[in-house]
Amino acid sequence: ESFTDMCLDPSIMKDIAYHDYTRPTSIQAQAMPIALSGRDLLGCAETGSGKTAAFTIPMIQHCVAQTPIRRGDGPLALVLAPTRELAQQIEKEVKAFSRSIESLKTAIVVGGSNIEKQRSELKAGVEVVVATPGRFIDHLQQGNTSLSRVSFFVLDEADRMLDMGFEPQIREVMRSLPDKHQTLLFSATMPVEIEVLAKEYLSSPVHVKV
Ligand code: AMP
Repeated sequence: ESFTDMCLDPSIMKDIAYHDYTRPTSIQAQAMPIALSGRDLLGCAETGSGKTAAFTIPMIQHCVAQTPIRRGDGPLALVLAPTRELAQQIEKEVKAFSRSIESLKTAIVVGGSNIEKQRSELKAGVEVVVATPGRFIDHLQQGNTSLSRVSFFVLDEADRMLDMGFEPQIREVMRSLPDKHQTLLFSATMPVEIEVLAKEYLSSPVHVKV
């Protein structure tokens, strides 16, 4: 499997080449075709495997496929990550693979950062939000953003998020997503709590393990 076989938007292909990603990693080769096909995915992969690009590239493709992207209430895609550092890393990768897609705006919404700035960014309208669960729920409750248009949802390092006590926030988001949406859940380990979550909220997910 190569990136060329994945029928990606030419501008994304350009950014992949620019970053010298010549071949997909194992998790990318396995997960990207599934993610691009619109199916739900349960991915067992650790940091360092290339899992970030495995979901950010299909996520960008998903947004681009909805062109012209209409700036409206709430994002089209949402990524939840356990920590501010991981969220920053993910946002960096989203930006890296959407450099030439001007209509795609990304906001990072994490605790310990200026909430007013986040509020105005969200209110101005963005297509992609990368967030930590607690701060995202704060914005949701304040009416600064909405889940009404989210059709692509990613939980990254889900096991760590549960360890940190974010299960209520994750469940709140998952049960409030619109009916028609795709979910990708990544976790380094698959404890029973993750399996339960996946069973409850994912729809016939494809299992991928590296
Ligand atoms: P991750 O597991 O997503 O944190 O990625 C680990 C590192 O691998 C990051 O520095 C990525 O930039 C890099 N990387 C991801 N995919 C590829 C690829 N297909 N070719 C080369 N490097 C990659």
